[in-house]
Amino acid sequence: MSMKPPPYEVVFSRPFHSSNELENVRAVLCSDHVHGDGSYTRSASERLRQVSSSPAVFLTTSGTHALEMTIRLLDIGPGDEVILPSFTFPSAANAVALAGATCVFVDLDPLTGNLDPAGVAEAVTSATRAISVMHYGGVPVDLTEISAIAEQHGIPIIEDNAHGLGVVTRHGVLGSIGRLGMQSFHDTKNVHSGEGGALLVNDPVLVEHAEILREKGTNRSKFIRGQVDKYSWVALGSSYLMSELNAAVLDSQLSEFTIIQAERFAIWNAYAARLAPWAEQHGVQLMSPPEGIHAAHVFWMIMPDAVSQAATLQRLRGMGIEATSHYVPLDTSIAGRRYGRTLHPLTHTADFASRLVRLPLWAGMSEDQVSQVIESLGSLTPVAGAVN
Ligand SMILES: *Cc1c(COP(=O)(O)O)cnc(C)c1O
Repeated sequence: MSMKPPPYEVVFSRPFHSSNELENVRAVLCSDHVHGDGSYTRSASERLRQVSSSPAVFLTTSGTHALEMTIRLLDIGPGDEVILPSFTFPSAANAVALAGATCVFVDLDPLTGNLDPAGVAEAVTSATRAISVMHYGGVPVDLTEISAIAEQHGIPIIEDNAHGLGVVTRHGVLGSIGRLGMQSFHDTKNVHSGEGGALLVNDPVLVEHAEILREKGTNRSKFIRGQVDKYSWVALGSSYLMSELNAAVLDSQLSEFTIIQAERFAIWNAYAARLAPWAEQHGVQLMSPPEGIHAAHVFWMIMPDAVSQAATLQRLRGMGIEATSHYVPLDTSIAGRRYGRTLHPLTHTADFASRLVRLPLWAGMSEDQVSQVIESLGSLTPVAGAVN
């Protein structure tokens, strides 16, 4: 089988370009305020507050750092356990392990790829200090059941909402529902600032601590507001605040959030509608979010088995289309085995990860590119054990 070398005709992801971002960056560089917490940080934070409905948002250097902050804010440490999905990005687990706590990995619901509430219920122990959920593709985790478990045991929920910016559910907007939430603005996300993220603090009790943690353990934020006459070291902290250069890009991107989402949804909807007959015919399960709620962040399909996944990825790449799989389950990874445990083998997670294929999806993809992906897939006949 011949493999077309990259660059691909249709890449998997391409960072969005918003109209004012260069102008904004120039304005920051020409100003006397290039470090964090300047006017673009204020403006972007206000936009984010509107989109997320979270009462207090803090721009950070990355989504990963925002997750680290959530664990610090909840004072989680050695001897404590955090329940989290095995099928997620390593950052949520790193945050737990860096604090010296133990990751307890739970299986997923194959309809959504999200944390399975029944698995959460059985994983709770007297050492559980948080339930860390991730809304895969912006499809809401079943918060009715998970919130009930959390409330029953008095355990806070952390939302990794890297995929689901602005997704409205009947429980509220994703990221604003748990005690703490986070966003990522990595350039593979719907809205980006190169690297960047945000901590969403939904419990007012934690706001002051979050400010201190983000400002190197100092009360500098109070000083800037004129509430103290000197700032000093008051608690443990680090430098988690976003530079104004990144905030300048983020502010521009957030101002075009509606445009970005409209473009992404048009592509997602084209895949869902035009691939349905082919998927049905070949036993391929297309992403099908309950109640149609998602963020158009990813479009995934579950192939008949692992062999047809590998073959599909290889054939698509050979046709110039950069399709990919996704997470290697954390519970079976080298660090996951060292820093975490499971109650039993996570069979749904292993199966889901071994059969998943994601298609290119980014604002700016042309209609021809979308058709090329659909037609290329349509020319393949996936069957268990192969693709012909
Ligand atoms: C991207 C991502 C992160 C990490 O965010 P960064 O901003 O890259 O640090 C964490 N969790 C999930 C689910 C992600 O997709």
